[in-house]
Amino acid sequence: MILENLQIENGLNIFSEIAELAAQYDALNLAQGSPDSPLDQRLKKFLIDAASHDMNPYAAAFMLPVLKESIIQFNARRKFPLKLHESEIMVVPGATYGIYVAFASFLKPGDEVIILEPCYDTYRHAVEIRNAKPVFIDLKQNNEPDWEKIKSSVSKKTKAIIINSPQNPTGKIWSAADWDLLWEIIENTQIVVISDEVYDVLHYGRQEFISAYHHPEIRHRCFCVFSFEKMFHISGWKAGYVIASPENISAFSRIHQCLTFTVNAHAQYALSKYLDVFDAEKQKLLFLEKRNLFNNLMRDLPFELAEPCEGGYFQTVNFLNYNSYLSDKEFSELLVRKAQVAAVPYSAFYHDKKNTGKLRFCFAKKDETLFQAAENLKRML
Ligand code: PMP
Ligand code: GLN
Repeated sequence: MILENLQIENGLNIFSEIAELAAQYDALNLAQGSPDSPLDQRLKKFLIDAASHDMNPYAAAFMLPVLKESIIQFNARRKFPLKLHESEIMVVPGATYGIYVAFASFLKPGDEVIILEPCYDTYRHAVEIRNAKPVFIDLKQNNEPDWEKIKSSVSKKTKAIIINSPQNPTGKIWSAADWDLLWEIIENTQIVVISDEVYDVLHYGRQEFISAYHHPEIRHRCFCVFSFEKMFHISGWKAGYVIASPENISAFSRIHQCLTFTVNAHAQYALSKYLDVFDAEKQKLLFLEKRNLFNNLMRDLPFELAEPCEGGYFQTVNFLNYNSYLSDKEFSELLVRKAQVAAVPYSAFYHDKKNTGKLRFCFAKKDETLFQAAENLKRML
């Protein structure tokens, strides 16, 4: 019954499908937001240190106290500090899990959840697995929220809205004014905000990162989901954290205790030590350089670059100038086979898989990978 609700064609989502195809053709995988660089030596050392401690019991009270403290300190060091109490934090095995459990903590069958598209493909599954109903609203042409449509889609059944800023795949970031406009719509409702903020440290323009938790009202009505994988670019570690009001964290814990209860203690220890020395500004500049390198390389190709990504690590390109007869899915498969470069067809970020003429590339790769990908594409196109 539950699996029937997960409408995944052929049983594989786009990331599994494209990774499999890329491996088959030995292609450079610029599709998945996943690193191809080695682990920072400092993090490696912290993990080795962790292994030398006795950490065989479950981490106490859902998470290691040292990690909780590091999260509090990190959030206090932000440009716009977030003052957190320990009752407002939960460490989770990845953001996807955090989003599923946040929904599970309050959604009931038949409830409606507003999802803004294009978006990360798993949101709808987190809703449908609860027998709730996603209500899809397109972003405007310029990728900004369509406030009129959002407002008119609110019904008596609307229980939540999911926001993602910095956004995957558009690279857009929400401002304080956006959060205010959202609040105007939901103020007199019971709507809960799930705020996917996994790319919090990766923003490249004038717009600073503003969390839903910065909003004086929304903070009491939201779950904000973060990912160490994105911050530290270590997707295989599957670890993140959720911040929410003590009441919401308590609701979250009721489900979480029945699922994983806690996260690998050695990883938590190493992540805590690394978070203490992590230089978010340096990380941001590193990714900004990669975005600029990737976009410069793309300018030599017959693609049209969308607006440079403001946050996160994905860049959209339009290929209709070059090829208008293949769908984005077919064109992405052609690139894998002929150029050995994998990108995600943008249609994957819409529930109805509508054709877009666009691809999403991940630029968070080694420089040599980006150069090689551009060379491969130049040869083919
Ligand atoms: N949210 C967004 C917007 C993402 O792009 C991703 C992964 N790329 C996730 C959540 C999932 O993060 P995690 O791997 O920590 O589950
Ligand atoms: N969410 C990641 C992305 O957008 C990939 C997730 C996955 O590979 N399952 O690239």
